[in-house]
Amino acid sequence: AAAANGGRNGATHGGTAGEAAAAAALDERQRSSGAASSSGGGATPAAASQGLRLELRDVHFSYGPEGRQVVKGLSIEAAPGESIAIVGPSGSGKSTLLRLLVRLYDCNEGQVLLNGVDVRELRQVSLRAAVAVVPQDTVLFNDTVLHNVAYGAPGAPLSAVRAAASAAKLDAAIARMPAGWSTMVGERGLKLSGGEKQRVAIARAFLRRPRLLICDEATSALDTATERGIQASLRDLATGRTAVFVAHRLSTVQACDRIYVMSDGLVAEQGTHAELMAARGIYWDMWQLQRAEQALEAHLHPSDAQL
Ligand code: ATP
Repeated sequence: AAAANGGRNGATHGGTAGEAAAAAALDERQRSSGAASSSGGGATPAAASQGLRLELRDVHFSYGPEGRQVVKGLSIEAAPGESIAIVGPSGSGKSTLLRLLVRLYDCNEGQVLLNGVDVRELRQVSLRAAVAVVPQDTVLFNDTVLHNVAYGAPGAPLSAVRAAASAAKLDAAIARMPAGWSTMVGERGLKLSGGEKQRVAIARAFLRRPRLLICDEATSALDTATERGIQASLRDLATGRTAVFVAHRLSTVQACDRIYVMSDGLVAEQGTHAELMAARGIYWDMWQLQRAEQALEAHLHPSDAQL
């Protein structure tokens, strides 16, 4: 939902002036460093690079003036090209953190920085061009599969749309559809499986070539083989970019450069999978719990465990 692009009607191959401006802004490569410091008009374009450096500095946030703080001095960072994971119990603030990254909300104190620039000083269009979100639930429009993949990157050439679908390993599914790329999908069209919908989201993200990728892991269960395939595609997508994975299943996060364990709006632990396991703290506890749940699941549904 965070990647919503406003005027859906423009999401064809015609391109929009806004997108062109974003592309131009991103190519500017921080030509002038004398950026306007106010959050008004002449804000700084996002710098062009392989991946963006992401930093949250002592971020505090509450949902309303009267509300309690749900983020209480959060500091995390990802160097260009790094993948980081955010894990933690339900209610610890993971989704809130994502909302702050894409500016659905702004923090009350502290800063969210991309390449050292406060996100409040970036043009919205520039931020949108730099960041892609693979959301928990992919929204499909009542349109062809072609336009569903191309959504978010209007004006992209057909060859790029096809390449993105191929990179997301969606092309085999499209080849099986009754009218191929012209098949209507969504509410009144062909219903896609959970895995196929996620691959549409991954293809959209490939097409947008973001410098910062944000993945909000789906909570809905996929079968083990599908889930492994999706995880492999997400790792492909994250290669060469900065990536933030919000994970509910710990198996997803082992390969990340650093894992942040959130607890009650704060980072309680951080490190690699091996470091956190050795520390035998919250992360280790979460693994024991997940293993016990998996063992129970295998006991209750033995046939699934063989997948
Ligand atoms: P989960 O794993 O269950 O998705 P989470 O770690 O993502 O949880 P958040 O959804 O960020 O946690 O919630 C953090 C806290 O903020 C919770 O106490 C939650 O009740 C509160 N909260 C979340 N969204 C809102 C909102 N829109 N308005 C007010 N409070 C909210």
